[in-house]
Amino acid sequence: MATNIIYTNSITGSSLKAGSLHKLVVIGEANQLSSDEFSASGLSVLVGGLHTKESTSQLSCLKTTLKAVGEENLHHIVGKGEDVLRISIACISDKRTRNNAVIRADLIPALVSKLISSEENVHVSFVIIEDQAFAAGCAVARAFPQYSRKSSFLSKKERTIEVSFISASGKPLDGVKVDEIQYTADAIRLTARLTDTPCSELHTDAYIEEIRKEVSQLPQPSQVTTKIIKGLDLEKCGFGGLWGVGKAAVHLPALVILSFTPPKTSDKSKNIALVGKGICFDTGGLSLKSTTGMPTMKVDMGGSAAILGAFLASVRLQVPHKLHAVLCLAENSVDQLSTRPDDILTMYSGKTVEVNNTDAEGRLVLGDGVAYASQDLANISHIIDMATLTGAQLIATGPRHAGFMANQAEFESQVIKAAHSSGDLAYPLMYSPEFLMKDLESEVADMKNSNKNGPTTAASSLAGHFIEAHLHPDYTGVWCHIDIAGPATKGPRATGYGVALLMHIIQNIH
Ligand SMILES: [Zn+2]
Repeated sequence: MATNIIYTNSITGSSLKAGSLHKLVVIGEANQLSSDEFSASGLSVLVGGLHTKESTSQLSCLKTTLKAVGEENLHHIVGKGEDVLRISIACISDKRTRNNAVIRADLIPALVSKLISSEENVHVSFVIIEDQAFAAGCAVARAFPQYSRKSSFLSKKERTIEVSFISASGKPLDGVKVDEIQYTADAIRLTARLTDTPCSELHTDAYIEEIRKEVSQLPQPSQVTTKIIKGLDLEKCGFGGLWGVGKAAVHLPALVILSFTPPKTSDKSKNIALVGKGICFDTGGLSLKSTTGMPTMKVDMGGSAAILGAFLASVRLQVPHKLHAVLCLAENSVDQLSTRPDDILTMYSGKTVEVNNTDAEGRLVLGDGVAYASQDLANISHIIDMATLTGAQLIATGPRHAGFMANQAEFESQVIKAAHSSGDLAYPLMYSPEFLMKDLESEVADMKNSNKNGPTTAASSLAGHFIEAHLHPDYTGVWCHIDIAGPATKGPRATGYGVALLMHIIQNIH
């Protein structure tokens, strides 16, 4: 049924019980796998650590063919009788240009799922350098989705995949933080599961229950406070954007605020608010999506799910910063109560918005989210919002790279660095509010919610600037907007994109 993934620093300390391991998968770039170091030492360390009765002649045969790795995956059997270890050695391309990650993390999920059948215990060992371990480890987490309603899924046996990291010479990589990889990978899988779940099962109320359950399962749940503003209370408190988008649904909208205070802080500790778009389903509202445009819109809460994941993983890791997750949950539904085009919403910021497209709802809920973060949370130094916001993101930066923008150039560089090291790719969008915001001018309100001139006005940047316009005017900290419309999914599946990126962004904040 379930696939457990356990990360370890040791080969010999395998947590798989003797006899339960069927297969060893070795993955690395060609320069590592075909090196003399690996055939002379690394391979023996791996096989010896996992399997004591290897046949010397079988192993040396494998060593001689290692030079061919890269052309195809090598498959060998070591041992005999019942004491058999099947070995697959797979090479991943080392062709990487400057907007790729430290390792081709994009290739790893398909490779791993191809090499591992569904019902076996496996040890996966990456032969890599230290800096590649985080991205490689996180990539494995994307290979085994946890959401399925296939009847055959329930009858599958539970199995464990153990993942380790070694150098070509077989030495453990002491600098690899296995805890960080484990927490992040678990959070990626949670994020992908929530994002894959349809709205009939993950409406706003069910989502809130999931959030409560996840917080209660933290090692020290008392370090996190949970505040929920829901339903009519949103309207009373002035959250006109979030209420306007979600008020027509049976399950009413909610703003969920999780706050973590670390036990130890220092002068360097910051106060970070992560704000996520959580549209559990997006029909488009009265500006209704088409028959082909509406399916898959269950994933429109992917930004909030990534923020929940990164928040939980950061708490487990006990990051030194005060951290808030502000989750804007709503279902953009059709009903006689739906917000109409032409209606004017008064946002939490106090600014008014003439709605000209009810399908541009993400920026309305996030506008309220960032306004709350900058007004009601004390001393915030960084606000980072994440959303499956615009189809135009795919036009700007393609399906694999998130498009992001930041109000400070230095922070933009930090996000590029985090994208490079985490494997969650990202590329900057233009930051230029004084030019772009003109396209949202309204005769009767402070702004419209959707650009008049379509994609020719840098639509993804403009959507970001709409959100930015609702920050409190006294807020002087960092603001960063990350549009993940493309990378949140690959084909029909959620990727859990964003958790790994946020983990590295947060840890690089000093
Ligand atoms: Zn929409």
